[in-house]
Amino acid sequence: MDAELAELVEQALRCGAFATLDLTGGAPELNPNFRKLVRAAGRIGVRVIDRCNLSVLFEPGQEDLAEFLAAEQVQVVASLPCYTAERVDQQRGRGVFDASIEGLRLLNRHGYAEPGSGRELFLVYNPVGAHLPPAQAGLERDYRARLRADFGIEFTGLYALTNLPIKRFGDWLDRSGQRESYQQLLESSFNPEAAREVMCRDLISVGPDGTLYDCDFNQMLELPVQGERPHLRDLLTDEGRQHLAQRRIVTGSHCFGCTAGQGSSCGGAVAD
Ligand code: SF4
Repeated sequence: MDAELAELVEQALRCGAFATLDLTGGAPELNPNFRKLVRAAGRIGVRVIDRCNLSVLFEPGQEDLAEFLAAEQVQVVASLPCYTAERVDQQRGRGVFDASIEGLRLLNRHGYAEPGSGRELFLVYNPVGAHLPPAQAGLERDYRARLRADFGIEFTGLYALTNLPIKRFGDWLDRSGQRESYQQLLESSFNPEAAREVMCRDLISVGPDGTLYDCDFNQMLELPVQGERPHLRDLLTDEGRQHLAQRRIVTGSHCFGCTAGQGSSCGGAVAD
């Protein structure tokens, strides 16, 4: 996201059609336009979510990042695939668990997950392996008990996500010969209630060059919103927004990942 795109995002937020700005992509905090955009969204009254990898809190030059996020009441969403070092380091690499724990402690010290602080901290779980996530509520209870007992960490809530069979996980399915059986699992677990709540009905995903996608997964698959070169600029007019609101969402077999079991969205499960 360059300065020009950040300016377009700000203009789109000023239209009043969006309640939330969800910033993602590796380490969005390192983008030179991140803080300016967060402040602008706050002034407009748009809630900001930062998909934070936690280790960025300890990057040189980011010593004041936790303080900034807390001051702006940015909701932090952080991936923590398990509450044990062994599983996390196995999935994410050696040392990632310890850095994550330190990051969560730092956020807690800045008031995150403190009742009444308005500083929300959500954790993200996704399965290691070709299976669906367990029930979100039970998993959240386990995480809360273990993180509190072992590390004194508090968090607001937990999102249990289903792995979609694309990109790195898709490659792993291919290598391990499990793509077909995993796709069958997703399709046989289709839940109409979850299908009614898929996140692409409520959000629009903006690529680094301003191209619009129905969701981040479609962005990863380079499947833009239907139409002629759909761009963030199209959201600046009433006509453009109306057109997009009536669009047909671009779907594929990967979408079964959002509709299986309790469903899966950027905010976790969507159905019982
Ligand atoms: S993967 Fe498919 S169902 Fe899921 S959010 Fe994207 S378009 Fe919607």
